[in-house]
Amino acid sequence: MANISVERDGLVDGMPRDERGYWRPDKDIGLPNPVFSWPPKPVKIAKWLKAYLWPFTIIYIAVTILTWLYLTPELTRMTELRAGWILEIFLRNQLMLIGLATVLHVRLWGRKAQGYQYKWSTKWMSKSKKFLWNDQVRDNVFWSVAGAGTVWTAFEVLMLYAYANGHIAYIDPREQPVSFALILLLAPLWYNFYFYWAHRLLHTRFLYKVAHYVHHKNIDVGPWSGVSMHPIEHVFMYASMLIHPLIGAHPLNMIFQGQFVTFGSIVGHGGFEDMVIKDGVSIPFANYWHSLHHRYFECNYGEPAVPFDHIFGTNYDGSPAAREKMLARRRAMHGS
Ligand SMILES: [Zn+2]
Ligand SMILES: [Zn+2]
Repeated sequence: MANISVERDGLVDGMPRDERGYWRPDKDIGLPNPVFSWPPKPVKIAKWLKAYLWPFTIIYIAVTILTWLYLTPELTRMTELRAGWILEIFLRNQLMLIGLATVLHVRLWGRKAQGYQYKWSTKWMSKSKKFLWNDQVRDNVFWSVAGAGTVWTAFEVLMLYAYANGHIAYIDPREQPVSFALILLLAPLWYNFYFYWAHRLLHTRFLYKVAHYVHHKNIDVGPWSGVSMHPIEHVFMYASMLIHPLIGAHPLNMIFQGQFVTFGSIVGHGGFEDMVIKDGVSIPFANYWHSLHHRYFECNYGEPAVPFDHIFGTNYDGSPAAREKMLARRRAMHGS
């Protein structure tokens, strides 16, 4: 692997990069979740568990608990579909979506606070004609706010309405704390499981042409690209929330699932692998694995946490050794 420093706008990042300037980690990435390996590897499992929970899953759970306690109307108010409480949920969801994407975008892409450090590509947001208003950021903001914020809220509102009317039975966390906590902690894993299959469906010819192409206009992604999708794709993604009424989980579990889809997608498409807090201190931030899906399309449909890509041979870790196999599969699918 070539190890070059990219120099643009006077910035030198000193990061490991391939010959085309793309960031390329000098360690193994995308190894399948050790939880699914045999014989068990306790040390690897413990490390994986730590990365699974900290920092983002724990932060998201804290946000959901605060949302449930302070930013969700009483269930007794939600027995009828009235504009007041629906608007409250719509606004809080939009504010959270816009707030998170804006903070990350301004820091990393606007102020360029860490320059090219940990940046996947050497390009900044595009002004290509393929985007609405010839502007990737405005295009991404439009699809995220008009689509994601609305579809996410619609799923949440309809389920809260059903919970409020007793159409769905749900567990009481005080009586079943273990089930409640387990459902909460397994929600990201459930999404990884669900996402793989939903995403494979979106890559079928018809659904790609009518819906998934919108997300894939973003070869280089930023925080606003995370939920920049066609509303049909939003329905696919947020439908992962429906598992909760099916298994009788608490409304908070359902709300967490929706927030996880939104927050996880925004952070995971950040465009930078780590966010630098100060010299030598950074948090593992985004998802190089999925950035390869945006660059090459026919690989890494899921996440290594639920290693379907490894099982079905669609995994690609970005290494020169694996590159030819990935390109050969792409040629076989598309003839080019
Ligand atoms: Zn994506
Ligand atoms: Zn895709």
